[in-house]
Amino acid sequence: MSRKKRASRLNQDDILTAAQLLREARAAVAFTGAGISVPSGIPDFRSPGGLWSRYDPQKVASLQALRTAPEDVWAFMHEAHGMFSAASPNPAHTALADMERAGLLTGIITQNIDSLHQRAGSREVVEFHGSADRFHCMRCARPYEAVNLAALGGVGVPTCPSCGGVVRPDVVFFGEGIPSQPRRRAEALIAAADCILVIGTSGDVMPANTFPYRVKNAGGAVIEVNLGPTAYGALPDVRFDAPAQEVLPLLYDCAVS
Ligand SMILES: [Zn+2]
Repeated sequence: MSRKKRASRLNQDDILTAAQLLREARAAVAFTGAGISVPSGIPDFRSPGGLWSRYDPQKVASLQALRTAPEDVWAFMHEAHGMFSAASPNPAHTALADMERAGLLTGIITQNIDSLHQRAGSREVVEFHGSADRFHCMRCARPYEAVNLAALGGVGVPTCPSCGGVVRPDVVFFGEGIPSQPRRRAEALIAAADCILVIGTSGDVMPANTFPYRVKNAGGAVIEVNLGPTAYGALPDVRFDAPAQEVLPLLYDCAVS
């Protein structure tokens, strides 16, 4: 790793370089993870104090748990949903929405289930791990929106009015594969991309973590915005070891000026 890549804490030259990569890209995509939502008040589930320090993922976020103890899954989901509802998009989310509007970004692939990209105004958002705002019946597959959740049984385990089945969140749980629709949409964005902005993700959750390598291997550019070291090492062309809510608004301003 070059000294420049390691040392950049909002180096102006790096902002200029990254802005130029964005402007010159035919199709740039953003790939985001938990880190982008931390300043919005949503702790990374895997960080100390995050939800995984109090809940066992196998007991609250697995297909096995849904089948054997849906009340545990729903106690967890109600808490997570309350946390997401209380949060607001931060300047990093807003800057990505601005970039899309300015034609600098073709879309976002997010591992987050908090809907903050959409609430910030982003339109092309692929929710690779699903959304905590959407649900469906495990028996008849009927879809439900968050607004209907209270009507399905309040704080406990919601059940489907049509068939009585247990309603589950449209979230990819541990041990489950990525559904075909987000997988296909992500594949299309990545296949067309010649630049990828990697934001707030440590790069160790399969299979989403492979996207930056694929863009790089196809000759594209990688811009990384992450606090601290990640699995991507020397892969990025430009790396910012700084908060996304500081870097992205500067990058947007520079790219449109
Ligand atoms: Zn049903």
